[in-house]
Amino acid sequence: MASKSSSIVLQENTETSKPKVGFVSLGCPKNLVDSEVMMGILSQAGAELVPRAEDADVIVVNTCSFIESAQQESVNTILEMASHKSGKARKLVVAGCLVERFRDEILKNMPEVDAVVGTGELENILSAVGVSSGASSDSPFRILTSRSEGDAREASGRFSRESWDGAISDLPNYLYDEATPRVLATPRSTAYIKIAEGCDHPCGFCIIPQLRGKFRSRRFESVVAEAERLARSGVREITLIGQDTTCYGEDFGLKDGLALLLDKLAAIEQLRWVRFLYAYPNKITNRLLETIAAQEKICSYVDVPLQHASAATLKRMKRGGSADIFLRTIEKMRHTIPDVTLRTSFIVGFPGETEKEFEELCDFVREAEFDWMGSFAYSDQEGATAYALENKLSPREVESRRKHLMHIQKGISRRKKKTLRGKEFDLLLEGQSEESDFLLEGRTPMHAPEIDGKLYIADVPDGLDPVPGEFYRCQITEAHDYDLIAKIV
Ligand code: SF4
Repeated sequence: MASKSSSIVLQENTETSKPKVGFVSLGCPKNLVDSEVMMGILSQAGAELVPRAEDADVIVVNTCSFIESAQQESVNTILEMASHKSGKARKLVVAGCLVERFRDEILKNMPEVDAVVGTGELENILSAVGVSSGASSDSPFRILTSRSEGDAREASGRFSRESWDGAISDLPNYLYDEATPRVLATPRSTAYIKIAEGCDHPCGFCIIPQLRGKFRSRRFESVVAEAERLARSGVREITLIGQDTTCYGEDFGLKDGLALLLDKLAAIEQLRWVRFLYAYPNKITNRLLETIAAQEKICSYVDVPLQHASAATLKRMKRGGSADIFLRTIEKMRHTIPDVTLRTSFIVGFPGETEKEFEELCDFVREAEFDWMGSFAYSDQEGATAYALENKLSPREVESRRKHLMHIQKGISRRKKKTLRGKEFDLLLEGQSEESDFLLEGRTPMHAPEIDGKLYIADVPDGLDPVPGEFYRCQITEAHDYDLIAKIV
């Protein structure tokens, strides 16, 4: 990570001493938190944040590089934002995962881009935008150490970026803490907290460890302090995020760290809902499940990306597990938390996936009956170990299998959603629906922010003027394949 002194430049010779900065944040909530931190640092240094690209002197695109389609979306957004340089914008900055992967290529092939900021050098956003850090010279980030699993995987080459032209060799190792300035970009009653960064798992299709570095957790007290501050400022729902939140605290010797953290956060009076994303299948402990079941404020919601269910495919993916093992875990979750909502995601068409292996996955999906399910078509990533595997499937075959799997899930979802008709839930009202001026939208504990199906509110009691960000009670009146219609009661 670049040192503070090398990352800061004094105010450039600009037409304004307070540059207007616009942000576009792509990808996952972890990237959104990085954007919020960069906005916080800029705002503290005197920059003005503006919501419209047309009004910005400097535009920052915080990119995603998860899979090929995400990389393409990032490139398209950079090019779209570059068009504003013929208007008011005088600088375009590209940040995030695409920079960690294609640093030199972006600078060489996209002359419209003035500066790049990787995921491990967020402080450099100041010099990239052209503002001074102000009075403080202390870094707003903590450099954290890794755990033994990460060090061992590093020794075996898991984090190597050697095949990537222009990637800097230093892995990101920072994490923000409760004192780091942060400007929330989420609706006022909800916020994410990043409790860990990086990942030590060896999954063969994934380059996130090379992009985000070794697994490291935020200090327990730091997370609690941030949650308390957010609650005091009006946040009522907190979603804890990390590549693998179920490893939380292992790097500082904490056992069942996530369960302990959830317990502690549930005691914060002003909070109504606490959630976490994502769980690694073999890290779901009894203690974690019992904590979710016992604490009313912890949403009965577990997102466990399983990636596949055939033991042979999972082995080639370097993940382990099998349909039987996963079914037992699911049974345990449903037994311990009777009203649990389960979400998962799969990668379809991993190299060498036979018809039989794919059928195993389909059978598993039929049997597991997830509440929510996502699927990705496998795409090659240079630097991932699966890149070198043989027996790649054609994109057409992969997409046809993916559609088939989603078709199976659609029927399951339709059946499960129908059973919710007439039931009552707590509702966090989000506001006017984009679908129609006559509908409101909200979420129940079954709906994590941004990702799950929609909940439309078609009816409110006479005399009630519902306020976005407030909680109500609702009853489900109609169920569709994925979406629900409700009335406030
Ligand atoms: S658990 Fe596997 S898929 Fe998830 S971020 Fe880590 S390496 Fe990637």
